[in-house]
Formats: sequence, C-alpha cells, structure tokens
Amino acid sequence: MPIAAQFIDEPARSIPVHGDYEVVVLGGGPAGIAAAASAAAHGRKTILIERYGFLGGAGTASGVTNFCGLFANVHGDVRRVVHGVADHLLARIDRLGGLSAPHPVLGKTKALAYDTAAYKSAADDLLLGRGVDLLFHALGAGVVAKAGVLSALIVETKSGRRAIRGRVFIDCSGDADLAAWAKAPFELGDATGNLLYPTMMFRVNGVDPNLAGEAWSTIPALMREAQKRGVRFARQEVIVRPQRNPVEWRVNATQVASRNGRALDGTDADELSYGEIEGRRQVQAFIDFLRADVPGFAQAYIVDTPPQLGIRETRRIVGAYQLSGEDVLRCASFDDTIGVNGWPLEQHVAGTVEWSWPAIPQSRGFNHLPYRMLLPQRLNNLLVAGRCASMTHAGQSAARVSGGCFVMGEAAGAAAHLALARDAAVADIDVAALQRLLEASGAYLGRDVT
Ligand SMILES: Cc1cc2nc3c(=O)[nH]c(=O)nc-3n(C[C@H](O)[C@H](O)[C@H](O)COP(=O)(O)OP(=O)(O)OC[C@H]3O[C@@H](n4cnc5c(N)ncnc54)[C@H](O)[C@@H]3O)c2cc1C
Repeated sequence: MPIAAQFIDEPARSIPVHGDYEVVVLGGGPAGIAAAASAAAHGRKTILIERYGFLGGAGTASGVTNFCGLFANVHGDVRRVVHGVADHLLARIDRLGGLSAPHPVLGKTKALAYDTAAYKSAADDLLLGRGVDLLFHALGAGVVAKAGVLSALIVETKSGRRAIRGRVFIDCSGDADLAAWAKAPFELGDATGNLLYPTMMFRVNGVDPNLAGEAWSTIPALMREAQKRGVRFARQEVIVRPQRNPVEWRVNATQVASRNGRALDGTDADELSYGEIEGRRQVQAFIDFLRADVPGFAQAYIVDTPPQLGIRETRRIVGAYQLSGEDVLRCASFDDTIGVNGWPLEQHVAGTVEWSWPAIPQSRGFNHLPYRMLLPQRLNNLLVAGRCASMTHAGQSAARVSGGCFVMGEAAGAAAHLALARDAAVADIDVAALQRLLEASGAYLGRDVT
C-alpha cells in the first residue's frame, strides 16, 4: 500500500539541455509517429521522445498487433479512408513481410493484422528517413511553461535529467501527460469516472490452422459451454484471430479491473502495478481454456505477454471541441476536418464489449475529425493528438484506434509547421492552408461523400 500524504522537498537544480528543436513530440505511438513524420517532412527540426526502446505505442508495447480504423463502410462499400503517413508506414511493414491482408470485422468493416517486430523497424525507418531525432528510454517528467507558452520538456534518462527546448510541442503520450503538467483542462472517465477497461493482450503459437479453422466464430459458444462447467471469464466478446502466419494467433480476451471492481486507472502507479500482475494471471487462465476446449489449440503456447498492460483510456483533454459519440454515430461533418474516423463506438464496459455503429448502408460510415480536437485550452504552442485528444468518453471509444490516431498525429505535425511559419499560436493557423497541406501529402479529408 502507498504511504499516505508524506512529502519531502527536492532541491532545485540546473539540468543540461539535450537539444533545441522546432517541434518536440512526446510519445511514439501511431499519433506520435505520424506527428513527427509529418513535421519533419515539412522541414522542421523534430525530436520524438519515447519511454520504451521502440516505436508503435500500444500497437507494439501492449501487443495490439492489429490496425483498426483504416477502413469505413461507405454506403455498403468497405474502403480505406486513412492514407497519408499511414500509407508510408504500412508499405514499409509490408516490405518487411509483416502485414496481413485485410480481414472482415463483424461483417461491417475491415482491419489489418501486423507483426510487432516489423512495425517497430518500419517506424524507425520512416522517421529516420525523414530526419527525425529519436530519443528512446526517456521518460517525460515535466514541462517549463510561462504565460501559456511552453519552452521545454523535462525528461529522465539513464544519462540523468535533461531539458529539451522546443517552439511547438505535440503531446502524443496517450495519457495527456504533457498537457496535464502544463495545466490544460482534462477529463478522466465518463461523468461518474468510469474508464474503458484495459486488457492484457497475448499471442499464442503452435496452433494447428486446419483444425482451428474459423475458431473466432466458434469460441463464444465454447466459452458458454465452459461456463456451465464453472469456468469463469473476465469478459465476453473476446477477439481471437490469426496473425500473418496462421500458427500464431492474437488473443484479446482479458479485462482488468482495479481492486474496487471499476476499470483500472492507467495514471495510477499502484493500480498499474496491480493490473500488470492481474492481466498475466488472466492470460494463464485463458490459455488453459484454449488448450482444453478449442480445436487446434491443444499444443498452443504463449509466445509473449507484452511489455505493458493495454490501457484504452486515461486523460482526455477538454479542448476547443470534444468529439462525441453522437458525432461518430451520425457521421458528423466539420468545416475544419483534418481526416476521418470510420471505427464505431467500441466500449469496453464491465464484463463485455458494446459496439454501436452508424447506420449501414444508409450512412457514409465515417465522421470528420475536426482540427479543434487537437487544441488544448490556455496553451499557445501545444497540440494534443491520439487517444488523449479532445473527445468525450464515448467519442474516444471510437477515434482512439490506430486509424484516427494516425490522422490526428499527421495533422498536428503539419499544423506545427504552419504555426512556426507564421510565428502564430497553434489555434490561429489558417485551417484551409492546413487542409491543402494534408491533401497534398496524400491524406483523405472525407469531403467528397455525404
Ligand atoms: C488492449 C488493446 C487493444 C486494442 N486493439 C486495437 C486494435 O485491434 N486496433 C487498433 O487500431 N487499435 C487498438 N487499440 C487502440 C490503440 O492501440 C490505441 O488507442 C492507440 O495505440 C493510441 O495511440 P496513441 O498514439 O494515442 O497512444 P499510444 O499508442 O498509447 O502511444 C503513446 C506512447 O507514448 C509513450 N509515453 C507515454 N507517456 C510517456 C512519457 N511520460 N514519456 C515518454 N513516453 C511516454 C508510450 O510509451 C507510448 O509509446 C487497442 C488498445 C488496447 C489497449
């Protein structure tokens, strides 16, 4: 248990400046990769800071191994709606032999599985090729800010505490760490503080693909049978799917609550520690079920539990506009569109997953993502992209997946470039110029379909 409310004073100290940059990106998930790639492509001196030794964010560090949100069901036609930086990254993963063909999701859209090792190397290659400086094993720990202007990010590294000075900062930490340190308003959970539940992902090897067949469609009935014998599962609506090599499958089946039964809070160090252990406990219980009850899995073994528990939702900034669940379901249009989200509401609630889709095929199946969702209050030179951008609890359950994060990150990088070009606050850039820049880079803004 933590020691309650005791404090010590830390002496003030001078710390070395690691470097001076035009654009400083915190976090190397899909939003951070796209932000850094985009800012550097526009010629900006850019650094990306990441606490782990590799890129990919939850996509690698939490073993997600599957891109959602790249496709939308447009009046019955399932098509790719996220391009730009995502195209360049996916092409590299494919060249490394790590990208699967698109697979159907619930008969309504498609997703793309990938191999973690290929994603990491492809992202290195993309960012180094564009001249981004990568600082790994650096934990963002604080900011220096005055009168709404950030001047430095403080990081803890093996070489000691360092400052990284910048002109525009992009918070892609997933947890809005940087925005919170800078005192930007944020929310944590829904109106009563409920967060989406986390999951400890894992992959198994040794599956017999011929015997397993389309096991993803038979596993729910097999779970119901096992439950009659007294087997307990943390959640229903599990996702168990093959990777590119069909002897290997990914398993998205656990659900980690804190000791009080509510979704674990990924900004609480003690809850995180408890959750890592509880997640691994559930993984071992689920592999027992797979081996015993699912044809083709008798010889399956766990290849890997990922470096960290998969956290779906923590802080979301309350910015200039909050994308809502209603916006997703009614396929909202915005004049300041920076790209689109075609993923439905995917709410990980106690014991299950609830899906809510826009009308299919009556609707165009995607909503615009407005530039305003990247703009925190009170800060002139900070953009926030990815799962911690300005969204409601319900809106975030959709636009948090990789596709939406690539879109937000790419737009944030281009917006940083425009703000620097005019020496303007990020809220004051010319949005039409941003849209032209994004389209010229291959991004799809979704303005051609209603
Ligand atoms: C269990 C699970 C399953 C999912 N399944 C899918 C799926 O199938 N398909 C899909 O597309 N999406 C899926 N998602 C959602 C998706 O992976 C994430 O929402 C997405 O990765 C968010 O991207 P991001 O860039 O905003 O943040 P993240 O991917 O969370 O990246 C944030 C990065 O910032 C780094 N970081 C954080 N704080 C600091 C700090 N203080 N200092 C330095 N570095 C820091 C982290 O290490 C991380 O690399 C899933 C998520 C979870 C948890």
